[in-house]
Amino acid sequence: MRRCISCRVVQDRLKLLRFTNDFELGLMINKGIGRSAYVCKTKKCSKDSKFKKNLQKALKLTIDPKFYEIIDMEIQNYK
Ligand SMILES: [Zn+2]
Repeated sequence: MRRCISCRVVQDRLKLLRFTNDFELGLMINKGIGRSAYVCKTKKCSKDSKFKKNLQKALKLTIDPKFYEIIDMEIQNYK
């Protein structure tokens, strides 16, 4: 069980998108080894105004704005 960084609800990890600050490769989605953060697979949570800030804080990482375009593509099929 993991906690969503937007709504703070604890959920089964299958319902969450995982972001990992991989120690070699940097930020990855659903892959990698290292510090991780989770967000619900919903537009509500992934489009939340606090999401980007919370993600950077959780991963101790500055995220390239281009990466959010990848996240947007990843979540566009979610409800
Ligand atoms: Zn959530």
